[in-house]
Amino acid sequence: MTAPMTTTTAKPRILTGDTPTGQLHLGHYVGSVKRRVELQDKYEAYILIANMHAFTTRSDKPDEIRRDCLEIVRDWLAMGLEPQRCAMVLQTEVPAIAELTYFFAMLLPFNRVMRNPTLKDEIKVKNLGENYSFGFPLYAVGQTADILAFRAHSVPVGEDQVPHIELTREVARRFNQMYCGVDEHAEDDDHEKLGGVFPVPKADVGTIGRLIGTDGVNKMSKSLSNAIFITDTHKQIKKKLGKLYTGRQNPTDLGDINNALFQYVRTFIPDVERVKELERAYAAGENIGDGHIKVEVADAINELLEPMRERRAKYEGDDQAIIDILEDGTRKANVIAEQTLLMAKDAAKLKFFERDIVLK
Ligand code: ATP
Ligand code: MG
Repeated sequence: MTAPMTTTTAKPRILTGDTPTGQLHLGHYVGSVKRRVELQDKYEAYILIANMHAFTTRSDKPDEIRRDCLEIVRDWLAMGLEPQRCAMVLQTEVPAIAELTYFFAMLLPFNRVMRNPTLKDEIKVKNLGENYSFGFPLYAVGQTADILAFRAHSVPVGEDQVPHIELTREVARRFNQMYCGVDEHAEDDDHEKLGGVFPVPKADVGTIGRLIGTDGVNKMSKSLSNAIFITDTHKQIKKKLGKLYTGRQNPTDLGDINNALFQYVRTFIPDVERVKELERAYAAGENIGDGHIKVEVADAINELLEPMRERRAKYEGDDQAIIDILEDGTRKANVIAEQTLLMAKDAAKLKFFERDIVLK
């Protein structure tokens, strides 16, 4: 087991993470994980497995959630996150997050939470109807606590998460104004300097904020059966892309380079000149079939995934090695989250005595 990292560095902090509702896909990579990999040295980085949030829609599947927690850590390692450079954290073993969630729920009007467009969207695309759990909308409040427990400055996420970050910014401002005497006209960037417990965090949306799924319509999502997973083989990638519907009939039809297929072309074919050439030929209907382009995209995706699959293979089977990584990261997370909770309790007159939480 490696020694826990210290929290004494002066680097700004990032917090981000994934819900264990399945394995990670290309959308996660281009929308968030790629950015995390780039930032893991520049920032003090905390990457969270939001396993409690997985229970919002799958409370009857504890075995699957547990499996997905470990699979996602494997995916992170495969994509280039390294436990020596960032803390990989298990949400349910950071009690300060749950405590802050309850507290922050008091700072947000109920209707404000329910108006969140990402929640509304999820209710629709996941067919949750009227029967979602009370905990489902609460996860949006929980996510404000995930971020603020680490007093994160920046949150690398995909586009769908922006409303959640906006909610988090509101909680931070409200808390700092209500309990820390920060003026309501203070600039967001000045809150900490003016005595606020929480920085007002910024969303850091990657260049591809919303990768479309292989259904050609919805956001690529682990819950919508429209994802290319990083463990998919070359053959599986080709097969999935083959189903991507563009509506174009003939290779000589004028093509729309804003369709889903061309988002893939621009995202995954690294040769810029080749991308330009494909765009030109497609738009002009120069006898270039969708099938041909799909094969080229599949090859490019396969090249991207090949080294990831190789790295991932090293961690296959050994669950304890993954659990050890999570334990180390979670230990480090508790140091800062407990510190934050104490600061918040102190500000809100909730601190009556000290307490100490340590992982054995
Ligand atoms: P679920 O379907 O269970 O909501 P998800 O696929 O949306 O899963 P999350 O765990 O909610 O995945 O998201 C993790 C991170 O990956 C977030 O920052 C999210 O914005 C980003 N992300 C997920 N899907 C995409 C996508 N298709 N394009 C860009 N970013 C994405
Ligand atoms: Mg999601």
